[in-house]
Amino acid sequence: MADSTARTGSDAAPLVHAVNVTKAFHGNEVLKGIDMDVARGEVVVLLGPSGSGKTTFLRCINQLETIDGGRIWVDGDLMGYEDRGGVLHHLTDKQIAGQRREIGMCFQRFNLFPHKTVLENIIEAPTQVKGVSKAEATARALELLEQVGLSDKPAAYPSQLSGGQQQRVAIARALAMDPKLMLFDEPTSALDPELVGEVLKVMRDLAEGGMTMIVVTHEMGFAREVADRVVFMDAGVVVEQGPPSEVIGNPQHARTRAFLSRMR
Ligand code: ADP
Repeated sequence: MADSTARTGSDAAPLVHAVNVTKAFHGNEVLKGIDMDVARGEVVVLLGPSGSGKTTFLRCINQLETIDGGRIWVDGDLMGYEDRGGVLHHLTDKQIAGQRREIGMCFQRFNLFPHKTVLENIIEAPTQVKGVSKAEATARALELLEQVGLSDKPAAYPSQLSGGQQQRVAIARALAMDPKLMLFDEPTSALDPELVGEVLKVMRDLAEGGMTMIVVTHEMGFAREVADRVVFMDAGVVVEQGPPSEVIGNPQHARTRAFLSRMR
């Protein structure tokens, strides 16, 4: 497939370039041809009703799901392998792990290792996957803990932390791999309401620091204030997109208006 701009990986090219992505589960088409570009440093919030395909799309970017059709490039790298006939093949687990290294993901559930301390959780991937020395990984982990407001917790175990603190550790753990792109899948929806703000603050700081982010969330305040662009999905398609002031403030489509009226 001719797409030289995506392949150059130059600064001007989008960091994420998704073209006509389709995905079905057992004949149920969940993504029906998603096109999406995300520029470097851009913060995109994906909004949409439950079941519209937001999580599946994030998982496709990270190759936690294999796509049925279309193409996704991240920083000029095709997610997958195209043969000379132009057919997309999926990579081996090892090759996927290599591509995924530069993509951080935070889920609704934090998935920290329960028997490791906060510090051990954060240095695990840099030391095991990237071969960073323990001393260097520890120094970086302590910086990241400071960044997420947890510099007093390196020796704590996940069970000793609140949900908001655990999610901040999970963000620090993802950042420890120096990702180019951060994907967030409803990072605050499992939290008690009083803990949501501390996680959103860390994400806001990250956005202000220039991280490229795609965020699935129902937090409309975050979408309004932090997103450069809001993408509204419904039933596997992008219905509309634009700056939050337009998509949230003045939605053009009935489906967007119906969704937003339920959120208020
Ligand atoms: P959203 O994130 O917008 O709530 P999802 O991407 O989670 O939507 O789900 C979209 C649709 O795909 C839903 O109907 C869901 O049940 C279905 N789905 C997601 N993952 C799987 C799976 N592993 N197997 C079967 N169906 C799935």
